[in-house]
Amino acid sequence: MSDIDFDEGDDDFLYDESGEDYLDESGEDYLDELDFTEIIQEKQERKKYEVEYKVYSIEEIEDFQNKEIEHVANIIGCFKEHAATLLRHFKWNKERLIELYMDRTEEVTKEAGVIVDAQKLPKLIKVEDFCCDICCDSGDDIESLALSCGHRFCKDCYSQYLTQKIKVEGECRNIQCPSDACNIIVDENTIKMLVSEDTYHRYTSLLIRTYVDDNIFLHWCPAPNCEYAVECKIHDSDLQRLVPTVKCKCGHQFCFGCGLPDHQPCICSLVAKWLNKCRDDSETANWISVNTKECPKCKASIEKNGGCNHMTCKKCKNEFCWVCMGPWSEHGNQWYTCNRFEEKTSVDARDSQSRSRAKLERYLHYYNRYANHEQSAKLDTELYEKTERKMERMQKSSELSWIEVQFLKEAVETVVQCRNTLKWTYSFAFYLQKDNQTTLFEDNQRDLEMAVEQLSELLEEEIKPNRIAELKQRVVDKSIYVKHRREILLEDTAQGLKESRWVFIDP
Ligand SMILES: [Zn+2]
Ligand SMILES: [Zn+2]
Ligand SMILES: [Zn+2]
Ligand SMILES: [Zn+2]
Ligand SMILES: [Zn+2]
Ligand SMILES: [Zn+2]
Repeated sequence: MSDIDFDEGDDDFLYDESGEDYLDESGEDYLDELDFTEIIQEKQERKKYEVEYKVYSIEEIEDFQNKEIEHVANIIGCFKEHAATLLRHFKWNKERLIELYMDRTEEVTKEAGVIVDAQKLPKLIKVEDFCCDICCDSGDDIESLALSCGHRFCKDCYSQYLTQKIKVEGECRNIQCPSDACNIIVDENTIKMLVSEDTYHRYTSLLIRTYVDDNIFLHWCPAPNCEYAVECKIHDSDLQRLVPTVKCKCGHQFCFGCGLPDHQPCICSLVAKWLNKCRDDSETANWISVNTKECPKCKASIEKNGGCNHMTCKKCKNEFCWVCMGPWSEHGNQWYTCNRFEEKTSVDARDSQSRSRAKLERYLHYYNRYANHEQSAKLDTELYEKTERKMERMQKSSELSWIEVQFLKEAVETVVQCRNTLKWTYSFAFYLQKDNQTTLFEDNQRDLEMAVEQLSELLEEEIKPNRIAELKQRVVDKSIYVKHRREILLEDTAQGLKESRWVFIDP
């Protein structure tokens, strides 16, 4: 597959995501100079875990194609439709197309299904003693058509065949002559002549889409019904060293490398391995759906209804951690190891049964924390939705304005994003070899985790209208801190990937 370079001249039709609209139509600065410098600075200081990318609408992609088509049509002196078919055949490698076209025009056009000579365009005609190979109708009065290969079929069969290819099979570029084993491509003109307007429209929109499919640096946003495409100049070989998270204009955040939802800081290959493992071991690990546990002290049953993992028993007031069931008071301590897995140096490590038990224990440690964050993020969101409904009711009975409680929405988004990051740190850690670097990583993981639990806990607090300002202050302060902790963790893991500092194992 050819690499198409966008660097040249793409600025005249595509604009940078963050660079648009700094000036208004009249060309006047509506931002003062200071703001502008800040924006430029921000742009230059891309974080280590971020990649450069652009989001394009389907119209922008169409525009770009049209410019390329026009260019080629001018150079080789042909109709735009033909230039388009040739370009698609050559997967938009303009240089190669022009070179080969100049060299051996006949062959190239035939392969691509282009008929440059208007005299040779397939026409619907009536021929004597015609018999259609598909429907077996025969007679002198039947309209039929043949491509340059001479395989002739009746108009109805041809239309039906093309409509099936376009509408049902979603084909466009490679529709071949209906005759078995004939690989002559049906040209655009013929298709236009034989199918309904609606089908032809579908055909052209499919053609536009092939541009993205053919380009390794362009991917469609995987969100359902989203029509944007993202461009990111990442090669497969880069995926061992970075996680290319991109955000579409529709809001969906995904990995450009594998198309899955954002999985920072875990690299694609480990994500794939991990998800496979979880699928295979789902039996062993399906405990997570459990939403009630016993208080480790008084054995009273405790239900979890928010995301926060700091639990307080209603009966005996015991405070404990939902994940490890250990005392909460110790969780902030440097030496406490809720997130860390302590390898047991067992005496009978050589016997295979205890070895596999140790292996399972290790996996469950990481899986439980991975799954718990996923679950907690769901509960955080649910709790917020409940709060939102409550706020709506409160608004009616007090002078509380909706704007005043927007901070809650933002805080929930932060918590959910950080839980997603934490979730993937556990899959990352599962494949990480234990050494000094790992300890540092686990410290960062613990610090983020503690901060997230604190913010998550704030979100569970009862909202009293007269104390909203105070709650807001605490939530906003904590959110800033949490985001900062996430950044530290992601910066360090990204830097480690760049330096090949992490050693991965196959546990
Ligand atoms: Zn027929
Ligand atoms: Zn044929
Ligand atoms: Zn999208
Ligand atoms: Zn990925
Ligand atoms: Zn209790
Ligand atoms: Zn714990």
